[in-house]
Amino acid sequence: MSDTFTVSELGWSGALPVPATMKAMLFRRFGPPDVLEQATVGTPRPGPGEVLVRVAAVGIGRLLDLTARAGNHPYATIEPPHILGADHAGTVAALGEGVDSVQVGDRVAVLPGVACGTCTYCAEGREEVCDSLTVIGTHHPGAYAQYCAVPARNVHKVPDGIPAAMAASLALLGAVAANQMTQAGLRSGHWVLVQGASSALGSTTAAYAPGRLPVAQPITHDQGT
Ligand SMILES: [Zn+2]
Repeated sequence: MSDTFTVSELGWSGALPVPATMKAMLFRRFGPPDVLEQATVGTPRPGPGEVLVRVAAVGIGRLLDLTARAGNHPYATIEPPHILGADHAGTVAALGEGVDSVQVGDRVAVLPGVACGTCTYCAEGREEVCDSLTVIGTHHPGAYAQYCAVPARNVHKVPDGIPAAMAASLALLGAVAANQMTQAGLRSGHWVLVQGASSALGSTTAAYAPGRLPVAQPITHDQGT
């Protein structure tokens, strides 16, 4: 793929320069999609252990986007004005103090779950069930913006030739799909039944089961009528 498409054609952009202000899509009240408005806000500065990502692509999901924007998030309190945007991909534009895991210009995918790093679950490597787990775009300003400041440990370098939109779509779903396989103890030769395989996570899970046979049964609203 990298032989036929340039980095720019794959949806990535350069890292510099970082402007003092940026454009973001935010909402000032809960409601339907038209509560989203483009605004000019200050560009976030990466704190210690953070990186500033120039956003190239961002995922949109039912809970973290549609439900949150409507004001019906079941476990998080959101105070408008708020910038949504959880799993995303982009180019590292600046480094906070103490960050040496990535460099400016690296293309990265960003896992949105921010774990504390110190609780029992985090110590066991199970950050997804961290006692103090927060989510980028829910508890922190998100990636419906030109730039987003995120913990350096949440970013993962993206190989050459991967489009930005694909990297954003795999940033969260890829990890969930992989974890399902690990937790289930699947081995080569096992069969995998993926329910809801036409969904974003379902299709990712089906694609992630190499050497196994995913079986999907699409269910439509008019089935049986
Ligand atoms: Zn923790």
